[in-house]
Amino acid sequence: MQQGTNLPKVGSYNRAVVLEAIQASDGISRVQIAAVTGLTAQTVSVIVRRLLEEGLVVEDGSAPSRSSSGGKPRTILRVEARAGYAVGVHFDPQELSFVLADLAGRPVTRLHLPLRPRARPDAVIRGMARTARRILREAGVPDGKVLGVGLACPGPLDADGVMVSPPRLPGWDRVPIKGLLQEYTRFPVTVDNDATAAAIGERWAGIARSARGFAYLYLGTGIGGGLILDNQVYRGSSLNAAEFGHITVEPEGPECYCGNRGCVEAVCCPSAIEAALGSGAGHAAICAAAAGGEPEARRVIERVAQRLADAAVSVVNMLDIDLLVLGGPALREVGEIYREVIARAVAERPLARRLHGVRVETSPIAADAAAIGAASLVFHATYAPRLGTLVSG
Ligand SMILES: [Zn+2]
Repeated sequence: MQQGTNLPKVGSYNRAVVLEAIQASDGISRVQIAAVTGLTAQTVSVIVRRLLEEGLVVEDGSAPSRSSSGGKPRTILRVEARAGYAVGVHFDPQELSFVLADLAGRPVTRLHLPLRPRARPDAVIRGMARTARRILREAGVPDGKVLGVGLACPGPLDADGVMVSPPRLPGWDRVPIKGLLQEYTRFPVTVDNDATAAAIGERWAGIARSARGFAYLYLGTGIGGGLILDNQVYRGSSLNAAEFGHITVEPEGPECYCGNRGCVEAVCCPSAIEAALGSGAGHAAICAAAAGGEPEARRVIERVAQRLADAAVSVVNMLDIDLLVLGGPALREVGEIYREVIARAVAERPLARRLHGVRVETSPIAADAAAIGAASLVFHATYAPRLGTLVSG
């Protein structure tokens, strides 16, 4: 949990710290907030009163005091989920996913739309805006309660939210996607690359809730990642950190479009899995067969899992983290196979294994992680302490 500061003139920072502590809990008392944030009881009390007045937080029953002398019961605080909403959009080369999320990070509506191959950027972005507006209308959310639209899209991105030569999207070089979506929706737009968005979503509403640090391995059409270190999103110097997909795992392996050889992505992405089996079966069918125990499919998936595990061990060694989360649409059916193989590798191989274990978890929100993450980008840009230093609008 982030520590607050009791110095004067840092009100808005402390406010965000308190709000985050409430959001990350399943109900928390003022005394507990003071304990986890390091703020004085008085500071917490003043901030909570203001959050209650603004309607962002509600009092929700009370918990018995833990002291044996039977002190006064503590009032439990929760985020008022209906106080604000954000639309998260995940732009994958094959489909658009939308999530309408409330302030507690819970998805209210989800929608998936296939994307026509080679659709023109302007038409796609106008379609995103139309669908976002329609979702809000159908859910009965008034504009005044919309905090913004979050967009998770394939990297690389520049700091102004312009797409720069995305490898799997010819025709999308130099598209100012953030500016256009803002213009067409007339809401503030927050943009991030899909894997980072999914990592932030995971911390907001998934398995890594309130984790201090973790690495997120995103398996989609391509393979990417996100990093939260010491409670902060680690973004690198150009917002393109954590490209786990381009760690070499087979030095003699196939050439990757990045210029490297035998990259995780070149060896482990869905199209590489299809090519490895060579039966003409699609990725989804191969994963279903592997999950059902068909030996050839199982062998291919396990081999891919081993290569992912090699990269995961390097990541764990490099960052000394104790949580690794697997997510993304390519996990469907085979998440547990990947998880087991990677968990075994990070239990046996990292240097710090005698000091701490490494938990490997599959995302409970995998199919929508990037869209939920995109929505939570908006909440983070609006409220979260320093996590708000995103590419925000
Ligand atoms: Zn590569």
